[in-house]
Amino acid sequence: MEKKKVTIIGAGLVGSLLSIYLSKRGYKVKIFERRADMRKEKMSAGKSINLALSDRGIKALEEVGLMDEIRKICIPMHGRFMHNADGTTAYQAYGKEGQYINSVSRGELNCKLMDLAEKHGADILFNEKCNNIDWKENKIEFERTNSPESQIVKADLIFGSDGAFSAARLTHQLQHDRFQYQQYYIDFGYKELTIPPAENGDFLLEKNALHIWPRGNYMMIALPNIDGSFTCTLFFPFEGEPSFATLDTKEKLRSFFEKTFTDAAPLMPTLEEDFFNNPTGSLVTVKCFPWIRGDKFALIGDAAHAIVPFFGQGMNCGFEDCSVLNSLIEKHDDNWAAILSEYQSLRKPDGDAIADLALNNFVEMRDKVADPKFLLQKKIEAAFSKKNPGKWTPLYSQVTFSPQIRYSDALVNGQKQEAIMEQIMAIPDIENKWQDEEIEKQILELLN
Ligand SMILES: Cc1cc2nc3c(=O)[nH]c(=O)nc-3n(C[C@H](O)[C@H](O)[C@H](O)COP(=O)(O)OP(=O)(O)OC[C@H]3O[C@@H](n4cnc5c(N)ncnc54)[C@H](O)[C@@H]3O)c2cc1C
Repeated sequence: MEKKKVTIIGAGLVGSLLSIYLSKRGYKVKIFERRADMRKEKMSAGKSINLALSDRGIKALEEVGLMDEIRKICIPMHGRFMHNADGTTAYQAYGKEGQYINSVSRGELNCKLMDLAEKHGADILFNEKCNNIDWKENKIEFERTNSPESQIVKADLIFGSDGAFSAARLTHQLQHDRFQYQQYYIDFGYKELTIPPAENGDFLLEKNALHIWPRGNYMMIALPNIDGSFTCTLFFPFEGEPSFATLDTKEKLRSFFEKTFTDAAPLMPTLEEDFFNNPTGSLVTVKCFPWIRGDKFALIGDAAHAIVPFFGQGMNCGFEDCSVLNSLIEKHDDNWAAILSEYQSLRKPDGDAIADLALNNFVEMRDKVADPKFLLQKKIEAAFSKKNPGKWTPLYSQVTFSPQIRYSDALVNGQKQEAIMEQIMAIPDIENKWQDEEIEKQILELLN
């Protein structure tokens, strides 16, 4: 049987990876990308985000044999390094010994994935912006972004991997009765800032950690780059005091940083330039349904489930979408009606779950990690889990290091664990007796 011709809209992280899975299965793939080829153009300022790549994403990259290549541009981060407001610091390992997440430049990863997509046979066409899809005729209208022309492309099978503000999703939505759509912006935006390397190229903070400056209502984080620098991201309210609206002069900005991020401010010589030149990004959650149309269309990655970045899972979840889809192609032997239907029923609850987990984790990162009681709770969980590995996997580890656990199961398990830990943390003098056998026994009883 001749394989369907596949059109992918968007050559971002997920579209590029998806094309590799499909090319390896013998499909002829064309990707249409709105932007120019970023491998030939300089990245624009303030777009140098680095991402945390963890086990779900790694599993997908390993399945298509790419991880060895990607590992070359990754920096392992073994834990969180907290910089508290009172000048103290604290370190919390992310998981068991040997478990870590990876800092990787989004731009570099995207360029590598596009190189590898082309190497595996996909055609990538740039400056092609999807404007509309005619669902009766299976025709997609692409506008050339660098000339006044447009073209109509006929496709057997279409994937919308055009990100959080997906045009493919919009045209699907507008022509679908009872399409469910939920969009939620938080009141916080983000801004990219920089800590450059030392003159001799050294890292100015601990290299193998994700740094956090938790400040209650807001926070800054920093992830290491291969060149010795750190990309910092300030997650900050749009309005109120303090906020992006109130830090409106260089003087106010520098003085705020010196007071609030005392150890970081002296390491940020380009703070004023970065802050006032780089865009302020907004953070959106999108949930929608359905993700598919019969045997001819599916949303994937952020286009299907945009989430806030506080669990470091947006890309990882999108890569997992590709891996699940691949296993369903195998299972249903290229029967695309069956593949897409099961893809949607498996992934929709998981997309919703990681969206909720990510929103919850914002409070944990910006506030709770600075609370000694919270850190003690995490220590108790880690110790219990070490002694009873089959009975307790901390929520962070379920999401980050356990691709065999679905996000939707992790959400439910995490809620049960939290209810148990609330009771344990309420035990008088828990600070001094958390290592007693009695506490372990109580957790076991509550678990049963
Ligand atoms: C501040 C921040 C930090 C993050 N940190 C992490 C992290 O640590 N770990 C993690 O896993 N995830 C993280 N994420 C999320 C991650 O960046 C996204 O989940 C991921 O980029 C999604 O990939 P995608 O391919 O679905 O979408 P995108 O990467 O957005 O790619 C979409 C592509 O489609 C193209 N496109 C858009 N519209 C059209 C159109 N009309 N026609 C044609 N092409 C189009 C775009 O140009 C783009 O190339 C973070 C996100 C943010 C904002």
